[in-house]
Amino acid sequence: MTVRVSLPRVSGVCLAIFSLTTQGCGGGGNENTPIDPTCKEAAAGTYPEQSTSPYVLPYSIGETYTVTQGNCTTGSHREDVGQQFAYDIEMPVGTTLIASRGGVVVGVEESFSDGTGVPGEENYVAILHDDGTTGRYIHVTTLGALVQLQDTVSQGEAIAMSGNSGNTTGPHLHFDVVREPNSMLCLPQARNCVSVPVNFRNTSVHVNGLVEGRSYTAE
Ligand SMILES: [Zn+2]
Repeated sequence: MTVRVSLPRVSGVCLAIFSLTTQGCGGGGNENTPIDPTCKEAAAGTYPEQSTSPYVLPYSIGETYTVTQGNCTTGSHREDVGQQFAYDIEMPVGTTLIASRGGVVVGVEESFSDGTGVPGEENYVAILHDDGTTGRYIHVTTLGALVQLQDTVSQGEAIAMSGNSGNTTGPHLHFDVVREPNSMLCLPQARNCVSVPVNFRNTSVHVNGLVEGRSYTAE
């Protein structure tokens, strides 16, 4: 199996902590994750206008999935790990993931097995957007990437098959958008990345992000 990872050409914090961190996630279970009220309060009102959001749900139109971990939790979606605006969305292994927003593929990993539960063994696809943010699609299944490094992908294009790789408690997609401080690529291993509040224009109203425990249909 081939491991393809795009390494930033410049040195920096993201790269320096490359091997030290993991993409913790949990998710996939049905138990609610406690909310961090301080984080939640600070986040309220920072989400973009939903109707003009550049993002669509990262799965096919007509499909419905449930958010099993939302934003600002005391679980793995915390600010101190740069993931407070991440979403865990429960879905069967092999669900087609689409590009929530177009861009250039800057990270692909698909060599790990599903179901190991081992932090750091996450398969993923990372897409760099034209505003410098990176969309991360994590826990992809083994050999589940449908794109290659440097591919340009359009919004809605199939990019991967979901899975259960790495630090998970069940099959799900961890999706988030990150912006890192020094214009370097922000790949899933990096923990100094700044999490960006995201909503999706093609589903029901969610003023302060998708709500944990609720299901959302891609329309
Ligand atoms: Zn997650």
